[in-house]
Amino acid sequence: MNEKAAVRESLSRVKEYIPGKDIEYVKKRYGLDRVVKLASNENLYGASPKAIDAFKDFKDLHLYPPPQPEELIERISKYTGVEESKIVIGSGIDGILEGIFNIFLEKGDSVSISPPTFPYYITLATIHDAKIERLERDESFNIKVSNSPKSKITLICSPNNPTGNLERGETVREIVEESQGIIFIDEAYVEFSSSDLLEFTEYENVILARTFSKAFGLANLRIGYAIMPEWVKKEYLKVTTPFPVSTPAIKAACAALDDLEYMKSTVERIKRDRERVFKELLNFGAEVYPSEANFLFMRVTPSFCDEMMKRGVIVRDCSSFVGCRKGDVRVSIGRTADNEYFLEKAKEILGQDR
Ligand code: PMP
Repeated sequence: MNEKAAVRESLSRVKEYIPGKDIEYVKKRYGLDRVVKLASNENLYGASPKAIDAFKDFKDLHLYPPPQPEELIERISKYTGVEESKIVIGSGIDGILEGIFNIFLEKGDSVSISPPTFPYYITLATIHDAKIERLERDESFNIKVSNSPKSKITLICSPNNPTGNLERGETVREIVEESQGIIFIDEAYVEFSSSDLLEFTEYENVILARTFSKAFGLANLRIGYAIMPEWVKKEYLKVTTPFPVSTPAIKAACAALDDLEYMKSTVERIKRDRERVFKELLNFGAEVYPSEANFLFMRVTPSFCDEMMKRGVIVRDCSSFVGCRKGDVRVSIGRTADNEYFLEKAKEILGQDR
């Protein structure tokens, strides 16, 4: 068999996802007892104990889950204030994005992306053989719209990964109202931010996606949701895999929504620490940017990530993200003790640079 010829041609342009180093590897490699991972924007306080109990209590593992669970859709409707008929459950925002690309994109269509942003958008666009139109950002990483996107899909990430900024409402409105295509708004980090873009779900060309992976601490369960116009939902239900989310994940997400107090208390702690870490990094002389998410973006020396790893802190090297440069780093805000450990080690390195 000619293996190369068998594989879709677009995959020759797709870069494989390279996950960051894990804690056990770093412990072994550098002979360290304590390693802290602040590289994947997880909520290190973990999920609500009620969500963990709900997950553990489910025993009927031999049965298929409901394709679109009503008990969860009802709760999301209550949480967001959006009618149930517009809500769809999927296997994380990643799974939902895949479905949306499958609905709309044909070979040669274009997708508007504003780097630096979540790399999976480019991966998916490339797999689908789409042309990528670049929306530029200004020096504060806000999207500049001089010409409104003509693409089939425009992706807006707010707060943006990896830069942490919220997209301005007026920019989003201009894009939504003037674009001929679908606007996909990714609010993975919305619970950490001071405002949201929910008002745009009134438009017939807007899809807004959220996740239980970040603030709710359920990243391992792969569950998220999207709010979309009913005409898109109809198509979505044709392209989704028949059983996208497991029942333990559904039960845990329901319990997490029934215990919002827990999520909010961890988010408050993370936000408080985010501001403290931000100020400290500024004091150390780092070029660090304000953030509305559970991470901070910094422009530091190219050796920073390696030096941090040797000291037992894993942070995200963003130099391979389109639109980033060497020395661009994203650090997640963990529990207070993790953040203190990060600051202690960062000071050693940044102090040397001064
Ligand atoms: N969107 C953004 C901006 C993200 O950072 C991530 C997670 N890294 C995702 C989507 C994927 O989220 P999920 O776990 O819901 O697939």
